[in-house]
Amino acid sequence: MPSDRIVIDHDDFDLACEVMQDATNLAVEARSTLPPEAIVEKPDGSVVTAVDVALQVLILSRLEEVFGVVPTIAEEDLHSIGGKPAAEAHCRRLLLDWGFEGGEAGIVRALSSGGLDGPTREVDYTWILDPIDGTQGYVDGDHWCPCLALLKRGEVVFAANGHPTVLGGMLLSGAKGEGSWWFPLAGGEFTRAEVSQQPLAAGETVRVVAPARATAGQVRARTAIGEVTGHPCTLVHSDSQAKYAHVIAGAADIAFSRRGGGPGKYVWDHAGAILLAREAGAWVGDTDGSDIDLSRGRRLDGSRAVICAARGLGPVIARELARRDVAEGFVAARGGA
Ligand SMILES: [Mg+2]
Repeated sequence: MPSDRIVIDHDDFDLACEVMQDATNLAVEARSTLPPEAIVEKPDGSVVTAVDVALQVLILSRLEEVFGVVPTIAEEDLHSIGGKPAAEAHCRRLLLDWGFEGGEAGIVRALSSGGLDGPTREVDYTWILDPIDGTQGYVDGDHWCPCLALLKRGEVVFAANGHPTVLGGMLLSGAKGEGSWWFPLAGGEFTRAEVSQQPLAAGETVRVVAPARATAGQVRARTAIGEVTGHPCTLVHSDSQAKYAHVIAGAADIAFSRRGGGPGKYVWDHAGAILLAREAGAWVGDTDGSDIDLSRGRRLDGSRAVICAARGLGPVIARELARRDVAEGFVAARGGA
């Protein structure tokens, strides 16, 4: 069956940045009036709010106005807050306040359109959207970020992440081969994001990102991993793609996410930051140093970890995480035995 080819004009990326800047600012505002009954649990037990869902509707419908219909992998769907009347009512109220004119049909359409799964290597363009990455942080007043990425035949070519909690509130955007750029969410001037390549000095402390709600065991493990650099280690707390933004902003030296024994991390939790960090000069890769394969659908099931490092620290951390994958039984030792 012949299909219309999707052509995305890369000159329109600035319009996608405006969509994400606006969405992030609306979410900041919506937090201050978010009623407790609009914070609910998803079927999988994770937290979601009416804002997550309303934001997805707003972002996807605005992107469609600019770019037309593009295959999309998005985190939320009709089930996210479905059957929770107070959360659904608050979601509709937010969309009205935000001037959304798509009505109920537009809401259903936007929440039904992000279910693409399967390989994207043969798909011309795919949006990857997490309307709020780090919803627990959003609820707790900690780090969170709306995250948008665009894949071209399975490779990320554009990203725009809203970071209300980084550097005083920034949009971080970038396109492949064109660098990454900070832009104040309140408006202002662009500045180029540049990750430090300066090696740690003797005795200098290495800063490793750890989850905000890290357990004692996670704290010990993260600290030990940082110490393989030969430096004392301190932990910087952040979740979501904001953890990578900390490295890009110079507030941390290393951030990583391990697959462990799980089915692979979700692509929307990493895709944008992988481009943004690399374009800013960070080391980004898997435990064997290879690139992260973003083309496999909703999960990164071909990768052991996503590692993002400044200051030349990537390879030593990758080797250590590879060693731990074997020691902890997630990966068979090479050569059998
Ligand atoms: Mg989310």
